[in-house]
Amino acid sequence: MLEYVGNVHLHSTFSDGTLTIAEIARIGARNGMDFLIITDHQTLAGLEQEQEGYYDKTLVLIGMEVNQRKHHYLGLNINTVVADNDCYPQQVIDAVNDQQGIGVIAHPIEKGSKFYYDGLTFPWIDWSVQGFQGIEIWNHLSRWRDEITGILPGLLLMLRPSLSLHNGPYREVLNILDRYQTQGHPVFAYGGSDAHGIRFKLPLLNKEIGSGEEVFRSINMHILPEQPVQGDLTHDRDLVYQTLARGKSWVGCDYYLDSRGFRFAAQSPRGRWGIGSTLPYHDDLALQVKTPRPARVRLVRNGKLWTSSQGRKHRFHVNRPGVYRIEALHRRGWKWQPWIFSNPIWIS
Ligand SMILES: [Zn+2]
Ligand SMILES: [Zn+2]
Repeated sequence: MLEYVGNVHLHSTFSDGTLTIAEIARIGARNGMDFLIITDHQTLAGLEQEQEGYYDKTLVLIGMEVNQRKHHYLGLNINTVVADNDCYPQQVIDAVNDQQGIGVIAHPIEKGSKFYYDGLTFPWIDWSVQGFQGIEIWNHLSRWRDEITGILPGLLLMLRPSLSLHNGPYREVLNILDRYQTQGHPVFAYGGSDAHGIRFKLPLLNKEIGSGEEVFRSINMHILPEQPVQGDLTHDRDLVYQTLARGKSWVGCDYYLDSRGFRFAAQSPRGRWGIGSTLPYHDDLALQVKTPRPARVRLVRNGKLWTSSQGRKHRFHVNRPGVYRIEALHRRGWKWQPWIFSNPIWIS
């Protein structure tokens, strides 16, 4: 089965990032990324300047991030700039839909840090909205900043940004996503790095930290398309976006352990259905999970932990309809590291 790995939600010098798209692409290629999606604030300048395309073996796609003070929204697979509307986010969602784009609610819950503009956050408040396609359940930068609760944690987080990965996504965000999925909405989980290429120079340590490399090994999107990429921008752009739009994907925290090779499918004598599928409930139906390394696997049904299992191969008998998704954790010393958050399989 084909699998490609991408880093989504990146900022370049076209907005408030410090690296050009070519520089970001080089870092992505060095870290084995198959695709990158740049989402600069309030602009599609990279797209207009024809900077989409292959850089070495890495496909760079360009979307944008809409809104400023709240309701940040990623518009992917669009060609025209979507205007901000901080107060009426439904209009932003509709504008992305008018272009047949993919819209993702970015970092909906932020707790803020008193060391960053006195606790300034960019949350999503209006949950009366409809018609969006994704929710960013895990945003690397947002979560990193939220963890800066004091001088010492701040210093440790600058030296080791990966510390912010240890607690995984906010449970509140997963609950929101579960609610939409349980109601039958095709809304999918996204993970974003939100990398801006910020560098901190610590004079006493004489070392540059927080460089771009780390973010490309942290929170990635893994997609399972039905056809291979062809090295052609138009074809491969469609392939990546279509696969994302159909939820044939998972969010992987690949920093400590690459989640490449994870699989989740429903199986019965009547067929096999992958992540993102909808199928009718019938007899002899089982959910199969494979993890590239031994893991603690939780099967979530309708937003609630249904059962769990440990190992590399897992099989769960299905005795009722529901929305099923997987959360997997791997060992990190004596702790369990949140690792894989799959999109669901709907059994109706
Ligand atoms: Zn944002
Ligand atoms: Zn952003």
